[in-house]
Amino acid sequence: MRPPTSERDYLSRGLLTCATCDTPMAPALWRELRVYACGGSPTRRVDAELVDSEVWTRLCVARPEQTRNFVGDARHDVIAREVARVRVTNPYPMTLTLRGDDDRT
Ligand SMILES: [Zn+2]
Repeated sequence: MRPPTSERDYLSRGLLTCATCDTPMAPALWRELRVYACGGSPTRRVDAELVDSEVWTRLCVARPEQTRNFVGDARHDVIAREVARVRVTNPYPMTLTLRGDDDRT
């Protein structure tokens, strides 16, 4: 699997963990498709567009004040600031833990 030419556009980069083996998932390209690949089992991958869109949507619902008016890669900074971790399984179910909410999940 080739690494992506740029990590920009992978909005949830650095936050994804494979729910199956607890290993971080990294941005990658698979047949021209942007994916996050499991570090423990690279054949386990999730569609980056689906995951990023779901993460952003959930964050907008949970933290509307913090997400207003952000577009493009600026959303990555917001996600990195507000989201503690995202555990995914192909890509659903997805467990999104916000910072400050750790003790409630
Ligand atoms: Zn895994």
